Amino acid sequence: MAKKKKQTMAKMQCESCKEVNYFTHKTKNVEGKLSLKKHCSTCRKHTTHKEAKK
Ligand SMILES: [Zn+2]
Repeated sequence: MAKKKKQTMAKMQCESCKEVNYFTHKTKNVEGKLSLKKHCSTCRKHTTHKEAKK
């Protein structure tokens, strides 16, 4: 089997302060925008992190 997995890096940006705190691998079969609850060091709490455009 051939390895043809395309991975792209997605920036996870805090919704509150717009700070990019996390990077995640995004596989091609993921549709739509990623949204994760992560701890933001700037806000010092858990906030929703959304995938940011480059
Ligand atoms: Zn934040």
